[in-house]
This record gives sequence, C-alpha cells and structure tokens, in this order.
Amino acid sequence: MDRKIKEAIRYLGYGSHAIDEKTLAMIESSFEELEKIVRMRFIYRIFELSHEEGNRLRIGQWEIESKSLSKNMKGCGQVVVFAATLGTEADRLMRRYALTDMAKTVVIQACAAALLEEYCDACQDEISEQMWQEGYYLRPRFSPGYGDFDIRHQERLLGLLDAGKSIGLTMTESCMLVPTKSVTALIGASTTKTACHRQGCEVCEKTDCIYRRDSR
Ligand code: SF4
Repeated sequence: MDRKIKEAIRYLGYGSHAIDEKTLAMIESSFEELEKIVRMRFIYRIFELSHEEGNRLRIGQWEIESKSLSKNMKGCGQVVVFAATLGTEADRLMRRYALTDMAKTVVIQACAAALLEEYCDACQDEISEQMWQEGYYLRPRFSPGYGDFDIRHQERLLGLLDAGKSIGLTMTESCMLVPTKSVTALIGASTTKTACHRQGCEVCEKTDCIYRRDSR
C-alpha cells in the first residue's frame, strides 16, 4: 500500500484496524481529486545559526528561546528556514465538501495532510542532497508551535522567506497558516553525521539520540 494512503488511514484514526473497502475507495478517490487541483510550492533559505546562553538561538536579528529547539539544533552551524504549501485549491475543495458531505470532508482533510507530509519529505530530500554536497547533514523539521518553540515565531519565519509573495503563504492573527495545508519549519544543518530518519524523530529508532526532537 502506498505510504501516503497508509498515512491518511492513520490520520483517520484507524490504527492497525482493518479499514473497510468503502472508506479505502473514498481515500483513493480523494487523493486523485487533490492531486488534480493542488499547486504545491515550497521555498527555503539557509542562514548562519548561533547558539547563545540560556537555550537561545540566533538567526541574524531573530532570537528564539526554546529548550526543545536548542536541543534539536545542538551542533548545527547553519539552519534551513523552510515553508511549503498545497495552495488555496485544497482549502477550496474542503470548503466545498463541507457544505454537502462531512464524511468526505474528513477524508479529504486526512489525505491533504498526508499529501503535504509526503511533499515536505520530498522537498527535504532535495535540500538534503544539496547540503550534503557542502558537507552538511540535516536534522528533522522543527515547526513553530512544537515543544516550547513559540508559534508566534511564525511571523518572523514567513517574513524571512517573503512567503506571501514567493509561495502565497500567509498567517492569521492567531498565527495559523493560510492556506491551511501548509508547513513552516526550521531544519538544523550540522557537519556531524546523524542518521536522521526521513519521517522524523517520532519514528526514529535512536531513542538515546542527544538531538532527539521532543515536545518538552
Ligand atoms: S532521534 Fe533520529 S531523527 Fe531525531 S535527531 Fe536523532 S538521529 Fe535524527
């Protein structure tokens, strides 16, 4: 089974339980619909990263205080500032179904989330390849709002990428991304080789890793 289909099933909360044929068919048709209309885009920029006292990180004039992010970025001299979006079309499709078919809306939501995750992984592979040629290894993506990395940093992150103009990505006053199916993240880059798992720390077997991304 395709990984993004498995992910969508997981987002729908089926866990290891068998999924019925009707729902599976709805998932497959939802991916087809989404893939026809979405206009996925991403952008990134690479910056120097400084580590300061008291779990503070600095990217140019941008200062971030976060224990969990500092831990994940330990040993990283550079940072990739990253954003990706499925675009407004996915939101429009979900809004349209929300008027008529709630079950389908829930499935489309899950499929869009899985599609976005897969896209981000592919983007990160591309960035990783470029950074690897320069002698850097990437850590997993770390998004504002995760752990104690304050979601209010979203504004600074989007600003550094000029994300509104470059990929049509903005935010609301409460820092929620618009379009909704979008991701922003910082990705640490270190010259120390780490065998980071493509899907991040949660699925990585290195439970004793000192850089492990956690929510504390
Ligand atoms: S736990 Fe795994 S994925 Fe996370 S930082 Fe360590 S090696 Fe990378």
